[in-house]
Amino acid sequence: MRALRSFTVRARLPEPLAPLQDLAFNLRWAWDPRTRDLFRWVDPQLWESSFHDPVRVLSLVDRHRLEQLARDPAFMGVLGELHEELNRYCTVGRWFQTRAGSPLQSVAYFSPEFGIAEALPQYSGGLGVLAGDHLKAASSLGVPLTGVGLMYRMGYFRQYLNGEGWQGERYPVLDPHAMALRLVDGVQVELALAEQTLVAQVWLAEVGRVRLYLLDADVEANPLELREITDRLYGGGVEHRLRQELLLGIGGVRALRAVGVPSQVFHTNEGHAGFLGLERIRTLVTDEGLSFTEAIEAVRAGTIFTTHTPVPAGIDRFPRELMERYFGAWAAEVGVGMDQLMALGHFPADPPDAPFNMAVMGLRLAGRSNGVARLHGDTSRRMFQPLWPAVPPDEVPITSVTNGVHGRTWVAPEMGELLTKYVSPAWDEASPAEWARVRDARDDELWRVREQGREALVTFVRARMKKTLLASGVPSVDAAWVDEALDPRYLVVGFARRFASYKRATLLLSQPERLRRLLLDEQRPLQLVFAGKAHPADELGKEIIAQIARFAGDPEIRHRIMFVEDYDIAVARTLYQGSDVWLNTPRRPMEASGTSGMKAALNGALNCSILDGWWDEMFDGDNGWAIASAESYDDVARRDEIEAESLFEILERQIIPLFYDRSGGRLPHEWIRRVKASLCSLGPEVLASRMVRDYVERMYEPTAARVDKLAGGSHAAARHLAAWRERVVAAWPGIEVVSVDGDAGATAPLELGGTREVTAEVRLGSLRPGDVAVQLVHGPVLGGDELTDTAVVEMHLLGGDAGEGGGTYRYTGSFECDRAGRHGYTVRVVPSHADLTDPMELGCVTVA
Ligand SMILES: *Cc1c(COP(=O)(O)O)cnc(C)c1O
Repeated sequence: MRALRSFTVRARLPEPLAPLQDLAFNLRWAWDPRTRDLFRWVDPQLWESSFHDPVRVLSLVDRHRLEQLARDPAFMGVLGELHEELNRYCTVGRWFQTRAGSPLQSVAYFSPEFGIAEALPQYSGGLGVLAGDHLKAASSLGVPLTGVGLMYRMGYFRQYLNGEGWQGERYPVLDPHAMALRLVDGVQVELALAEQTLVAQVWLAEVGRVRLYLLDADVEANPLELREITDRLYGGGVEHRLRQELLLGIGGVRALRAVGVPSQVFHTNEGHAGFLGLERIRTLVTDEGLSFTEAIEAVRAGTIFTTHTPVPAGIDRFPRELMERYFGAWAAEVGVGMDQLMALGHFPADPPDAPFNMAVMGLRLAGRSNGVARLHGDTSRRMFQPLWPAVPPDEVPITSVTNGVHGRTWVAPEMGELLTKYVSPAWDEASPAEWARVRDARDDELWRVREQGREALVTFVRARMKKTLLASGVPSVDAAWVDEALDPRYLVVGFARRFASYKRATLLLSQPERLRRLLLDEQRPLQLVFAGKAHPADELGKEIIAQIARFAGDPEIRHRIMFVEDYDIAVARTLYQGSDVWLNTPRRPMEASGTSGMKAALNGALNCSILDGWWDEMFDGDNGWAIASAESYDDVARRDEIEAESLFEILERQIIPLFYDRSGGRLPHEWIRRVKASLCSLGPEVLASRMVRDYVERMYEPTAARVDKLAGGSHAAARHLAAWRERVVAAWPGIEVVSVDGDAGATAPLELGGTREVTAEVRLGSLRPGDVAVQLVHGPVLGGDELTDTAVVEMHLLGGDAGEGGGTYRYTGSFECDRAGRHGYTVRVVPSHADLTDPMELGCVTVA
């Protein structure tokens, strides 16, 4: 039965404890161990049973206990101190405030999910946790960023395995009134959904000094089916998904307007929020009188798009009928036809009735785009190259900003203390030079931290396993073995992530006997801990989990290999902090970045991974292990076989002997040396503070400067740029490189260090020299005259004239040859305009 009306009953704290309320409602507790300790102090049992949720602790704690605490001078002293510290944290200037003259005033960061704490389960995995870490690091750096997302009433599912190891899903209903969220008074957002109108309310989460707004469709004014729009993360069919994305993108922009966040830079974390661009186009057209193409220019100037998946199936695509139903009114209002709208989500070669591709729209409506690791940038340029058919893959305008993780969320308090002592009290924002000081840490001190992590992991896994067994009806005598499962003295290899098939969680199971031998070794056993969820609709992923669960269920080895159910932030943290080795076995280059290995590394684990995602750029030969990649094999089975073989060899010949090598005494000194090498090299690179600084310097600030410039004087520059773009694209077919001449016959040999002069004659048709750049592209030549590793040199205008029927101009340029061997060059013409972020963005290139 549904309640006709519902209301909230909130706990009231005794007056002196009022600061507890502020501490509970600012999610800074998610990464501040002292604030967490304070809530544990309030009621240790409630702290555990509430999944570490200060708001629940306060609403459930016994009144007498509160009165007792209010009279406890020790408690009140710490409370006062932490409250003051929070206020200071939220107001004192930080890194961003030292950037005098920064053009950046506001970034709106849109994401379909945010993983901030286990008590706010609004995430499914890596994408959401990354978004949470982005907000936290932005907060600590003082970046003026605001998050926008949805409030899902059931979040993502909670996982359990049945007796056969098959994944089942539970969807507990969340009550936002009982969470660390505040309803934003007086703000409601309205949205047309086909023939209906949706009303959404807005929740505010405070993430340190950053605000996160979450839109919620579960409002009484809505008919029941609309209230269900924000039911679950990634649930329901295509139409459900479209409605969620409409609310996120369009509703999100309206919510920001309603709460008064200035509109400057918009950052779309993956394509799901891409409709924000359409909402902004609409307002520019209707309120400011821009044309459709001018509005696109203005929106692009202020938008950043981050793509997160090299897997085409991971991209949302909406059929044309649905787009017509939900965007027909939009198109009419903006004054364009459906074909024009659909083209925003199409590759040039797509037919008009092809599904609308959200990543394509993301790229088309963003002035700057990026992948999430260097290799992924490269993969993305190739994957989306068809959007710019004339542009060479290496020059497709998609860059990369490598992901990072929020240090204080993921690092164990004991490790945090060690880093504070040796690296810096601000180790989470420290420089490489400061991180290098971790080598000064005493071996026994570092090893003690590692042991504490492993012990905590073993305790946690045993308790979780016991609970699971008892809950599934196993008699307690039959569950007693769990108390002895895993041994905190032995090597632990962790593997936890989504069970998508490209991640190949079962690579180790491909040689079951060999694995059993390692697990059952008397002196030097290997222990394995797995965790992770499969998407509810992914039968293959569930089969992989079941395989692991069946293998791990064998009574002979079950004390050495465990599958921990219900992977979430709390499970993840325990695994990162307690594993000695973090294993990652994706099929290269399917893993965009991966971040779990970064979190493990910060805790002193060593990575053993395929050179994919972030590991491809950060592995240096000494800070972990690289599993050989047999990427060049087309035969997937053969490839898996070779890579599994490499993994086993690394385990048998390197990892296990090194971990158990105590020739220098009680401690594995060589292992510890490796851990230090890993911390020194990875510490400064894997932090979200590095990532957010990269975004600020390379993406946000240039975008802010550009959008301000283009918006000035009623968008004069945007209008001009739109007109220029149309003119250049239309005139481009008239461009031709008529001739190219090198000095001394162009192909004569040159001495190393010599200079080659080149002149070219170029026909520009109706365009002028100011509209284009003529470039000399040179580099070593491989077989088939293919230029590799090219460098680009601008050529200078020598002269020419705008004759009738098309001007012809002469250009000159030169380059030095600093490498012996075959070298080649060519000449090309690309568009050039001061307000363009990248000459390639128009997709116009003419090569000699
Ligand atoms: C870090 C994290 C992930 C992402 O891990 P990958 O390495 O990208 O697979 C997923 N889920 C949780 C809970 C995490 O903390």
